Amino acid sequence: MTIRLFNTLSGQMEPLVPIDGTTLRMYACGPTVYDYGHIGNFRTFLQVDVLRRALELFGTPVRHVMNITDVDDKIIRNASLAGLHIQDYTRRFEEAFFEDLNALAVKRPTEVPHATGHIAEMVALVERLAAGKLAYQTEDGSWYFRIAGDPDYGRLSKRDFAGMTDGARVELDEYDKDSARDFALWKAPKLGEYHWTSALGPGRPGWHLECSAMAMRYLGDTFDLHAGGEDLIFPHHENEIAQSECATGAVFARHWFHVRFLLVEGKKMSKSEGNFLTLRDLLLRGYKASAIRSLLISVPYGQQLNFTFEGLVAEAAALERLRAFRTRVERHLAQNAFGQGENDALQASVEQHAASFDAALAHDLNTAAARAAVFEVVRLANTAADAGRLGRENATSLLALLERFDRVFAVLTTDDAAITEAALGWAECEGRLHEAPAALLLQRTLTDAQIEAEVEQRDAARRARNFARADAIRDALAAKGVVLEDSKGEVRWRRR
Ligand code: AMP
Ligand code: ZN
Repeated sequence: MTIRLFNTLSGQMEPLVPIDGTTLRMYACGPTVYDYGHIGNFRTFLQVDVLRRALELFGTPVRHVMNITDVDDKIIRNASLAGLHIQDYTRRFEEAFFEDLNALAVKRPTEVPHATGHIAEMVALVERLAAGKLAYQTEDGSWYFRIAGDPDYGRLSKRDFAGMTDGARVELDEYDKDSARDFALWKAPKLGEYHWTSALGPGRPGWHLECSAMAMRYLGDTFDLHAGGEDLIFPHHENEIAQSECATGAVFARHWFHVRFLLVEGKKMSKSEGNFLTLRDLLLRGYKASAIRSLLISVPYGQQLNFTFEGLVAEAAALERLRAFRTRVERHLAQNAFGQGENDALQASVEQHAASFDAALAHDLNTAAARAAVFEVVRLANTAADAGRLGRENATSLLALLERFDRVFAVLTTDDAAITEAALGWAECEGRLHEAPAALLLQRTLTDAQIEAEVEQRDAARRARNFARADAIRDALAAKGVVLEDSKGEVRWRRR
C-alpha cells in the first residue's frame, strides 16, 4: 500500500514512494539539547515515528536520520552561565531526550548525527557557496548567505520576497517571519565565546547550515522527505533549501512533512503562560506514558492538537478498554471457549475495519480515522462476546488487527509502571519528588511480588469466609493505588 501525504512544498497530496525504489530516506530536525523536551516537541517526534512505522507496516524500509543540535546561541549562553563546556552541558539533556523517546516508544532513528561532529562538512558547504558567490564574509568575520542570488527563495513558505533588500542581514537563527534577510552561515565569535578554527576563520555554524550539511552527508544531495514542526517552515527549512540547492544544483528534499502545533488548554504553550509541560512533568503527576503517546498521536499531524488533562484521563481509560479486550480474547483462545462456532457477520466486520485502518493511514496518515476503526470493531466484538457469539477465527483475526494497530500506535504493551518508577527516581535526584501525588508515592513502596502476596492473603481470607479481613486488604491496596478486579472467580490487579 502506498501512503499519500500532503507536501508543504507542492501544496498537494502526493504518493510517498522512495526515489531509489527501495528505501525511503528521511531527515527530521532533531532537538536542540539545552533543556528537557516539552510535549509539543514530542508531538512532532511522535508523528514522525508514526509516519516511519506506517511506511514500515506497508513494506517500505526507512532510513531515518535525526540530528542533535548540540551547539547554538542558547546552548553557548546557558553553558557559559553554568560554567560548563558545551558538551558537558548538552550531554545530560541529550540523555534525557533519548530516555523520553524510549518512554514514548519512539523508534530510535537509524542515524543520530551531532552538529558538533560535522563541522568539516559545514565549512565545506560554505566554501562551495562562496565559490558560487552565494556566500560572503562581513567585516566581523561572519559568513552570510546571499538570498538575492537565489531567485527561488521563498518557494517553501510561499512568501513573496520581491523587493527584498540586497545585503540586509540577520544574525539570529530564528527571526521575524516577514523579513527576507541574508542569514548567517558561520558566526564569528564574540569576545571569549566558544568557537572552532576553520578555513572560514574562527566561528561556529548557523543552525540552518547544520541541518543541510548533515542531511546531505547521510542521505545524499537529493532525498525523499524532510520533517519538522510547522514553526520550522520559515526560516529554517526555507534556508536549508536555499543553501543546499544553490550548492548542489539538485533538488534537496522532494517531500516536506510539517506537524502542526500542540496547544495546551487552547493556548500556545509558554513558560510565561504557566502551561509549559515537559514529558517528565506529566509522568511525575502520575499520567501514564502510553496514554501520553496515544493522545499526542490521536489527532492527525496536519491538525492542531489541543492538549487537555481531561483528554489525557479519557485516553488512559480508552487504552484500558483496548487492553482489557485483548486479554479477554486471549483468554477465550487459551480456554478454547467458543461455544457457538464462527460469527460470520462479525468476521466480515473485522475484515472491513482492518481495511479501513490501512486506508486511513494511507490517506495522509489519518491517525484519528485509523484508531476509530479499531475502537469501533472492538466495541462490536465485545457485544458479540457478551452474547457468546465470538468464534475462534473471529478471535484470531481480532488479535491480528490489534497487533497491526500496535505496530504503528505502540500503546498496548508499554511498561508504564517501570517508566513511572524511572521518572520518580529522576525526580528524587532533582529534588522534585514532592510534586508527585501521594497515591503514586505510596504505590511506589509496593513491589509486584508484595502485591501478589497481599492478593493471595485476601483470597485466603475470602475462602475462610472472613470477608471483613478480605475487604480490609482490598481497601489497604486501594489506598496504595492498587485496584483489584474480580471477574468470574478470578482476581486481577492493576496499578491505578
Ligand atoms: P526544538 O528543540 O525547539 O528545535 O524543537 C524540536 C521540534 O519540536 C521541532 O521540530 C519543532 O518544530 C517542534 N515543536 C516545537 N514546539 C512545538 C509545539 N508546540 N507543537 C508541535 N511541535 C513543536
Ligand atoms: Zn533542521
